[in-house]
Amino acid sequence: MNKEVRLIENFVSWQGEGPDSGRTMIILRFKTCNLKCPWCDTSVKMRISAEAPYKLSDIQRTILDRKAGILITGGEPTVKKHFNETVSLLNELRYPIANVESNGHNLRELISEVDLSQSVKFIYSPKIFNSEDIDKSIEILEQIKGYDRVYVKVVYDGSDYVYEFLKILSKEEDLLWNQRIWLMPEGTNRVDLIKNSEKTFDLCEKFKFNFSSRSHIIFGFI
Ligand code: SF4
Repeated sequence: MNKEVRLIENFVSWQGEGPDSGRTMIILRFKTCNLKCPWCDTSVKMRISAEAPYKLSDIQRTILDRKAGILITGGEPTVKKHFNETVSLLNELRYPIANVESNGHNLRELISEVDLSQSVKFIYSPKIFNSEDIDKSIEILEQIKGYDRVYVKVVYDGSDYVYEFLKILSKEEDLLWNQRIWLMPEGTNRVDLIKNSEKTFDLCEKFKFNFSSRSHIIFGFI
């Protein structure tokens, strides 16, 4: 527990998106990402925030004091630089719940390293900007969808590529599969999110997916 991880954020808040939206979580944010998404809502933080070391024992104390889960996010928790620290957080801490948010980069490798006796959700958030991204995302999904701890969270930005991907996603016949998919509106501010929600709700209805708001942006708590 004397081990340290290097993060750009470590504070208690609430999960703003996806299956555990609204739960109290310690937000543990890594600095580096392998992608540069045009609508990234953390790109400025990643660029300007300095990393600092945090002891696992201190994070454990906060989990116990605040009765909080942990949200491991970024950046991308599975890039080489952060991979071992992510494994340490998940395997060495004791927590009521953990979420790991990933663009899929090394997600299968991460799942295979994690002790699944605790309540961990791996939230795969594919980033789709062209047809190659669709193929790559489907390939990743095929590798990880057999794990019932895997959830999918997709930002609908109005693009035909994302629509095409959703169509493919919706073809699975397993009812439980649809229950593991969340669709979210694009937007880095409250006004855009609300404006873009209508189309997102329509697609949730069409493809039978769950809708996720992005409460941290709407209410400004992260
Ligand atoms: S994968 Fe996530 S953190 Fe990385 S650039 Fe895209 S939105 Fe930002």
